[in-house]
Amino acid sequence: MSVPEVYFAEAHVPIEYIPRVPPTKWYTHSLIYQTKELAGKLLSDIINLKDSVAVKIHFGERYSQYYIRPAYVRKVIDKIKELGGKPFVCDTLFSGSKVLRDDAGEPIWTRRSLKEGLETAAMNGFTNETMGCPVIFADAPEGFQSIKRSFNGKYIKKVYIAPAIAEADILLSLAHFKCHDCMAVGGTLKNIGVGCSSKQGKWWIHHSSKLGVDKSKCTGCGECVSVCPVSAIEMHQGKAFIIAKKCIDCATCIDHCEPVAFTSKTFPTIEEQETRIAETAAGIIDYFKEKAVFINLAIDIAPLCDCDPYQGVPIVPDLGVLASKDPVALDRACIDIVNASPGIPGSMAETAKALTPGTEKFNTVAKMRWNATPGAKHVTPDWRVMLTTAEKAELGTQSYKLIKVNFGYPPTKNNL
Ligand code: SF4
Ligand code: SF4
Repeated sequence: MSVPEVYFAEAHVPIEYIPRVPPTKWYTHSLIYQTKELAGKLLSDIINLKDSVAVKIHFGERYSQYYIRPAYVRKVIDKIKELGGKPFVCDTLFSGSKVLRDDAGEPIWTRRSLKEGLETAAMNGFTNETMGCPVIFADAPEGFQSIKRSFNGKYIKKVYIAPAIAEADILLSLAHFKCHDCMAVGGTLKNIGVGCSSKQGKWWIHHSSKLGVDKSKCTGCGECVSVCPVSAIEMHQGKAFIIAKKCIDCATCIDHCEPVAFTSKTFPTIEEQETRIAETAAGIIDYFKEKAVFINLAIDIAPLCDCDPYQGVPIVPDLGVLASKDPVALDRACIDIVNASPGIPGSMAETAKALTPGTEKFNTVAKMRWNATPGAKHVTPDWRVMLTTAEKAELGTQSYKLIKVNFGYPPTKNNL
């Protein structure tokens, strides 16, 4: 098996380029231009005229400081059109946590509702107008529909792909690469495993059994009965009761239960959740075969994920944009370049004593975050679990050949 190539356009632009590149060509050394050209490099031999291309990103949330800036996505869209494709930009819906609101009464996590989710996307700069193509939630309108596919994993036996993504000819994952509290790393595997799954698929990543009700907490308000889309909840002696056979694991009832009475009968460990993500990603990517390509933006490398309402200071400087046809090699290459980089003073990398080049940053920062969470000192996320599982599922390899690329106008001495 040949070693997969990972292309790396560096964020750093040498100062010597200023006199050696004509001002009219400076834009070609922008990372936004490099991202556009990387997309073209990956797509050019797989795209056919009028192929629909799902560009899967994370829209960010209401208080996200770091997510992909819209200009990167727009230029990728322009490139897809240039190649004759029909792009759309998408994210997916989510349910399963109590609704939290800010002091103005606005929701903080908005992807449980199509209307609020699209408002957030627009606030963060993603609209049909700014992108020049449809901006959608791929499991709209409610996240209850999926294209189901069997998968023979250790834990995952079925994947639930958001319908609009499954219907696309090509999947282009455009992920913001950063830390993640549960998976240690949030990159391509996370963007696809969790991000391309409907609400039902997300449930089976984060849980290992069906939903139950803690009767001691249930007040019998009946809210959940009215929101369940399949009438799977009845009131028995003043308490909610779930008819397991009817329940589609959408988690909508959890969002509407004020006393947090819904409970999972068993809860997978972080290691199991990491395995479930990798297996789900393998099932979804296998659906597309060679018609899936992957880009990670290793910029604004925050210590927490794109939906966190506070993120602090990025742990390392911007490194660049990496792209590959092997999702495992891509995530591993990003992990390696981040770990090889010096950390940023004042960031959680400093608090975690991981400033020195070569120190493990992701697992250290994630562990520190759990240590600070009351009652969660035992949680030890490790990206190796996710990547090793993906490798075992034959999704890709952690070996790779890093190829530095620069699509910019070549600097020449003649311009001096
Ligand atoms: S919403 Fe919660 S408290 Fe109200 S009936 Fe349902 S489970 Fe009980
Ligand atoms: S009981 Fe109803 S709302 Fe709750 S997870 Fe099941 S299907 Fe969804």
